[in-house]
Amino acid sequence: MNSEIISRYEAVKKRIEQACKKAGRNPGEITLVAVSKTKPDEDVLKLLEHGHFHFGENRAKALQDRMESVKNPSAVWHFIGNLQTNKIKYMVERVNWIQSIHKKKALKEVEKRASEINRVINVLIQVNISDEDQKSGCDPEQLEGMLKYAQDLKYTKVQGLMGMATFADDPETVRPEFKLLNNLRDKHLHLNRGSVDLKHLSMGMTNDLEVAIEEGSTMVRVGTAIFGERNY
Ligand SMILES: *Cc1c(COP(=O)(O)O)cnc(C)c1O
Repeated sequence: MNSEIISRYEAVKKRIEQACKKAGRNPGEITLVAVSKTKPDEDVLKLLEHGHFHFGENRAKALQDRMESVKNPSAVWHFIGNLQTNKIKYMVERVNWIQSIHKKKALKEVEKRASEINRVINVLIQVNISDEDQKSGCDPEQLEGMLKYAQDLKYTKVQGLMGMATFADDPETVRPEFKLLNNLRDKHLHLNRGSVDLKHLSMGMTNDLEVAIEEGSTMVRVGTAIFGERNY
């Protein structure tokens, strides 16, 4: 069972390498975030032992529990889910990345809590690229205001954008959504100043990571292909 996790993980690394080769990119540019949601700690521990350090969870409580039980100082924790303001204080204490900020109010709260404990948090602004109402993220028109606001923050570093594509059997159909996120990044590069540096694009999951990499992704968030199907 354990070695199955590792071979699935290695297969995902291969997919990333192959996609990079096709796109003429360097695999070293891509961070793989292993999305361990609902899966047991032992799976996470196996990957850590194997030398993988980036992990993502989409629920605040699950991430808190995970960070508590997996006490590994090398682990890099990403929060990738819908974040309630009242949970930010607890996230900021331990988490390294919050990928799912989509409101100025959340930036403000991260800054407040991070400054209290003198800790720097990397954040990505999540943009709604899918046109589906249930997918969260700010509207593209709100990006400029958020980035301008973030320039002057001290403990909150905006490192790029995150997007979730529409679920589709054929990943080709979501290519325009990844292109949109990449274009939005380019369009806002002139706002790189102070605490804003739009170098990352977090896009691509189990089904569509190849297309995302071809369209400029620097972070892929992969759950199922590494950990197996989720029951809930
Ligand atoms: C679950 C999840 C993923 C991983 O999805 P898979 O299809 O299992 O790879 C990526 N990003 C977010 C925000 C998620 O919630």
